[in-house]
Amino acid sequence: MKRLLMRSPIAVALFWIGAYLLVTLLPLLILLIYPPPGGRGFWIEFSVALGFIGLAMMALQFVITARINRIEASYGIDILLQFHRFTSLVAFFMVLVHPVMLFVVQPETRQLLNFIEAPWRARMAILGTLAFILLVVTTIWRKPLGIPYEPWRTSHTILSVLAVGLGVGHAIGVGNYLGLFWKGILWGAMALIALWLIIYVRLIKPWMMTKKPYLVEAVIPQRGDVWTLALRPWGHEGFCFQPGQFAWLTLDITPFSMREHPFSMSSSGEHPERIEFGIKALGDFTSTIKEVPPGTKAYLDGPYGVFTIDRYQDAAGFVLIAGGIGITPMMSILVTAAERKDDRPFLLIYASKTWNDITYREELEKLEERLDLTLIHVLREPPEEWTGEQGYVDKELLTRHIPKHRGSRQYFICAAPKMMNQVERALHELDVPVTNVHMEHFNLA
Ligand SMILES: Cc1cc2nc3c(=O)[nH]c(=O)nc-3n(C[C@H](O)[C@H](O)[C@H](O)COP(=O)(O)OP(=O)(O)OC[C@H]3O[C@@H](n4cnc5c(N)ncnc54)[C@H](O)[C@@H]3O)c2cc1C
Repeated sequence: MKRLLMRSPIAVALFWIGAYLLVTLLPLLILLIYPPPGGRGFWIEFSVALGFIGLAMMALQFVITARINRIEASYGIDILLQFHRFTSLVAFFMVLVHPVMLFVVQPETRQLLNFIEAPWRARMAILGTLAFILLVVTTIWRKPLGIPYEPWRTSHTILSVLAVGLGVGHAIGVGNYLGLFWKGILWGAMALIALWLIIYVRLIKPWMMTKKPYLVEAVIPQRGDVWTLALRPWGHEGFCFQPGQFAWLTLDITPFSMREHPFSMSSSGEHPERIEFGIKALGDFTSTIKEVPPGTKAYLDGPYGVFTIDRYQDAAGFVLIAGGIGITPMMSILVTAAERKDDRPFLLIYASKTWNDITYREELEKLEERLDLTLIHVLREPPEEWTGEQGYVDKELLTRHIPKHRGSRQYFICAAPKMMNQVERALHELDVPVTNVHMEHFNLA
């Protein structure tokens, strides 16, 4: 029974939520239990509590973003990152309200803002808060501020270590609640776990990846300015993956660099000896793929993701809705299904700009022969003689194609954010159960 419960995705997801709440609140409870808080008044105790919870939530961000497979497999990267953003803002709010409340209730504490004369514990609080403010500002306004992704990621890591490290230093320095040795140890341990996760993610995991390199076997042009990058494991067996999942790719340079990019596998999950990605030339890194010479070393961190039909073994069939480069996970799903001789119905609604832009057009036609696959192309700029679907994937278009018994299928959407939102809303209006709709966002940050 226990085993069964832990296997159910909902039970596992609830388990992690419980663990999160426990870790966030436990240190606070322990801190308050013994010795009991001295009569310093409600607002001061409340302000301190906010500071402790905010700090614990900040430390837990290292766990949430450490790509721990078990946690990731329960929610998917999209939800984890949304949770990361939301809880960071909540923690930020608590950390800011904590001193403001003190300044209001005990006006003499405002002197601590005088950085030159303030004791080191207050200086740590000021510096930690500044690091946190910078962290939040550069993340929310990264694009308007024109900060490229890689430098932002490096600074994000440094600022978060600074914010948490200085926060813990401040809490230990103030000592009101941590004066007892074991309480200091408790918070010190939390900081060390966070530090360990950073070291694991940035040093140990990349070092482990150097033991399992890949070689670029071919770079093949596809329609729509997309390039298939085919990798072969070198000296190991590669990895099996569930079709629809993705991996972080580092090319040529060392995996210790922060230059890794997420890409969905486009090949069959059953063939670890040749892993393919379909990469659209859109920016600094993706535009260089076409020039990558065969034999170039590559590293993969994966597989990750929950955007896969393998989680829905009982589904009667699947509706795949792709826009542009969002076809890559669908391609993997279809190729794998064909190899497995999956006889369930697949409907692919695939939006492209023009007929000539349709990535994998010919491959998809061949798959129609091997699978129960219905292919609906939707063109934004159709040729004159075009009699198929055109324009946008909206409610009317979906009504024409998705099955009457909506709940019998699982729906997978991967496209530009605007199209994903519109399709999600349309499916909702068409009474597709929300639990049957799965989305993969390609724009994480
Ligand atoms: C789960 C997932 C699967 C994806 N699958 C595919 C795929 O199959 N094919 C495909 O062509 N693209 C895919 N992408 C998108 C791809 O990762 C980005 O287009 C690529 O990283 C952009 O890098 P760039 O340097 O060329 O572009 P830039 O012009 O430098 O960046 C464009 C935007 O891409 C994002 N980005 C840039 N670098 C990174 C990075 N290292 N990590 C995460 N995001 C970054 C940022 O939002 C940035 O603003 C996927 C993304 C995700 C999250």
